[in-house]
Amino acid sequence: MTDKVLAIIPAAGIGERFQSDIPKQYEYLDGQSVIEKTIKPFIESEFISKILIAVSKSDNFIKEQNFFDNEKVEIVEGGQTRAISVLNALNETNENYDYVITHDAARPNITAKDLVTIYEKITSSKSDCSFFYKPVVDSIKESKSNKTINKQDYYLVQTPQISKFNKLKSSLAYLIDQKIDVPDESFAMESQGYHVSKLEGKASNIKITYNHDLNLLRKLNSRVGSGFDLHTYKPGTGFIIGGYMLQCDYAIEAHSDGDVLLHSIADSILGAAALGDIGIFFSDKDPSNKGLDSKEIINFCLEKIHEMNLEICNVDATIICESPKISPHRNNIIDNLSEILKISKSNIGLKATTSEKIGIIGEHKAIAVQSLVNLKEIL
Ligand code: ZN
Repeated sequence: MTDKVLAIIPAAGIGERFQSDIPKQYEYLDGQSVIEKTIKPFIESEFISKILIAVSKSDNFIKEQNFFDNEKVEIVEGGQTRAISVLNALNETNENYDYVITHDAARPNITAKDLVTIYEKITSSKSDCSFFYKPVVDSIKESKSNKTINKQDYYLVQTPQISKFNKLKSSLAYLIDQKIDVPDESFAMESQGYHVSKLEGKASNIKITYNHDLNLLRKLNSRVGSGFDLHTYKPGTGFIIGGYMLQCDYAIEAHSDGDVLLHSIADSILGAAALGDIGIFFSDKDPSNKGLDSKEIINFCLEKIHEMNLEICNVDATIICESPKISPHRNNIIDNLSEILKISKSNIGLKATTSEKIGIIGEHKAIAVQSLVNLKEIL
């Protein structure tokens, strides 16, 4: 590819429809801000050489973004409208570009591949501008007459859009000068008689306009963590597993109460939240943890994820031991887990297997649990 491609992200909008003190592009989404998620594929893209982000003069959030010091990124001053912001950015650069990709700051669900796809569309169709669109699936009525209109005659326009650099610049300058409202770049190009082409986009390319848009995206995101724990047996009369007292000929060697299932799940929870492991918070060298009730460890983990606005969606665990038999106790263990983890029984998977008489577990000397936890944002 020999074409030189610039990217412009107009981000000067205040977002009045979005009921929040924080502009929508700076809201937190899956461990980063919306705009950080939006900018990432542009930074990763090999064919985009520069990214200009147009922000309002009073924007205090932009400096805190993880891309602020990236060499590909330059912050420019935006204007009162999207069109003015884009034109300001176009005027800001002295370099000559062949194409410019424009994209909404609050559309965080695009990929570097989408950018290649839209570039390939404009070059293969020999257009002056190409954009992603979405067919209309709901019925449409005309608001004044309340009459249903034919939805096949309409489609919705998304970004990213790609335009020829010089043609977009002159079109926007003319329309702004004429005080004509410019909803997006494809309008600017078509209004000047340039050849515009479209490509079907993805429904997941959501523009965050209202609070519920952000909640929808948060719902799509989840975090997974895995855990493993093993304890050795000693002769005894039973042990606690998942908060349930299982009576058998073994006891568990442990500094705490030795609840191998809760330990494994605690590690899964901490792993999914990227908080480390239980050893960091409950050291087995610490005398105050002697005989510790593992339910306290789980409560601590639940508090930690709650602070991050996360909750458990589901848990899956496999108990690995040669003996005792787990299946007669399975329902009791699930009942206890449901209470301890504060999730419904239908969200708890519990399996048991052996290690085929091999190794320390196969020799009836130990029990282990492997688990997986899925966390979701609390809505
Ligand atoms: Zn343990």
